[in-house]
Amino acid sequence: MTNAAIAAIFEHIADLLEFRGENVFRVRAYRNAARTVGSMVESLTSIRADRPLTDLDGIGSDLAARIGELLDTGKLALLDELKASVPAVAFDLMRVPGLGPKKAKVLIEGLNLSSLDDLEQACRDGRVKGLKGFGAKTESAILENIGFAKSPDRDRLLWNDADAIIQELLGWMRACPAVRRIDGAGSWRRGRETVGDLDLLVESDAPTVVMDHLRAWKETTSVLLSGDTKTSIRGPQGVQIDLRVIDAESYGAALQYFTGSKEHNVKLRSRARDRGLSINEYGVHRIPSDDRGGGAADVRHAGIAGRSEADVYAAVGLPWIPPEIREGGAEILLAERNSLPHLVELGEIRGDLHMHTNATDGEDTLGEMVRAAIERGLAYIAVTDHSQRVTMAHGLDRKRLLAQWSEIDRLNDSLAAEGDPPIVVLKGIEVDMLEKGGLDLPDELLEKADWVVASLHYGQNQPRDRITARIIEAIENPNVSVIGHPTGRLINRRQAYEVDIEAVIEAAARSGTFLEINANPWRLDLDDHHAAAAKKAGVKLVISTDAHSTRGLDVMRCGILQARRAGLEAKDVANTQTLAQLKKLMKK
Ligand SMILES: [Zn+2]
Ligand SMILES: [Zn+2]
Repeated sequence: MTNAAIAAIFEHIADLLEFRGENVFRVRAYRNAARTVGSMVESLTSIRADRPLTDLDGIGSDLAARIGELLDTGKLALLDELKASVPAVAFDLMRVPGLGPKKAKVLIEGLNLSSLDDLEQACRDGRVKGLKGFGAKTESAILENIGFAKSPDRDRLLWNDADAIIQELLGWMRACPAVRRIDGAGSWRRGRETVGDLDLLVESDAPTVVMDHLRAWKETTSVLLSGDTKTSIRGPQGVQIDLRVIDAESYGAALQYFTGSKEHNVKLRSRARDRGLSINEYGVHRIPSDDRGGGAADVRHAGIAGRSEADVYAAVGLPWIPPEIREGGAEILLAERNSLPHLVELGEIRGDLHMHTNATDGEDTLGEMVRAAIERGLAYIAVTDHSQRVTMAHGLDRKRLLAQWSEIDRLNDSLAAEGDPPIVVLKGIEVDMLEKGGLDLPDELLEKADWVVASLHYGQNQPRDRITARIIEAIENPNVSVIGHPTGRLINRRQAYEVDIEAVIEAAARSGTFLEINANPWRLDLDDHHAAAAKKAGVKLVISTDAHSTRGLDVMRCGILQARRAGLEAKDVANTQTLAQLKKLMKK
């Protein structure tokens, strides 16, 4: 069982306990444990093998026992017990953004609801706003967000969680001697924000052996389909995994076909038809001149190309196209003109400009964050803890901020004591945009910072023009370097606030303010479309992890995938530059 799966179960338990009105400390313990486990890179299985789980932050003996039960049996008696005691409709209601367990309980009991449709009707009838703790605003927010809870996408895995599953499975499958080659395909390979089913392709002469090996994986919970060359199973977190065994001569064609997207493949096939060719999952074939129908599509051999993806693209006169931009947009046109972007790569990132320490809501100390950044080969970082308005996170006031900056000065001095420092630490802050407008710390203080991230955490329900004005005001502040997570969305959890993103991009372009691609797998904000629009407007992007622990620095790759899907090159991303170059790009 993966860490992500265990984290999801703990989060679920916390919701259920809260729904039942149980002790807040117990609820919080599960939430904290979910966070700890969810952000760990090393698997709990391997941790347990060499040290007690109680060594982990916030994991006491009770939680350690629950983790043990999950690892040993794949089940948790407590969860089954809790589930049985909570009505099914509660699970649906808690998926409506903004509806926590407490509100869900009031709604269900107060209005006798049994489905999301009941809730929608109750809102339309104006029955919700009469309940204690609810008003007209909440009622209209529920109506607005209910579609989100009903959407079929809500069950898709975050890319990062899908990746954890796929990596573990690849490791298991590679141990099978009959596997000559194996790749993940589908939306995972395209680096989508969320992933539905997982697709694996294997090259092998012994399909039966390969498929037996998949069924024997310890995470396989059920077998959905067993064919001659295809097996489907259900794996961790209920995800469906389809494995296909392919001949070497068709492997590239299959990888191309099952990577998708559908839209990309439709365009590619139509291009092939224009050239008298057909493409399917086996290869590229010449359509006989007397065949006006699609008969050639039934061909089950490689034809004139199929061994590699590059061969398939070459057969229709194109260079290989990176999976992240195979979405049926302009990529085929760009490929044809040989002007595909040289997409930014993880190795090109030199700095990370948004992270937290335990001075606010991070888990690790300044020194630990710096050491972890050095280990990851970064040349510079900005430490950007929260400002005072974020009371929940114990945000920094002037005094504490200045103390942290002195500590950073001393740290930089000691790093430079023996010649070239391995890293430069920038004195930064994530300053809040206040609900009433303006920033949470005075300009004369922000002026002294090396790097200022301005973010909007409060007043997210304000009307569109209010929110847009607050952000543009921050953009126009000469001390603000970048706007953090510009739309505030949390994938599968919370919709973006109402904001005129075009106006934001325009203001950023005008003033030379950067916009962030927040690499946190829940955020990925800006998204690919907005990041592409920002690039087009001449805005430089900054890809930042917003790490709240040393492990959090590893999500940079998720931000890179998002940037690649937006078609960004290294020159579009400010933190691929050296520190000296970055300073020249900054507006002050
Ligand atoms: Zn933030
Ligand atoms: Zn942050």
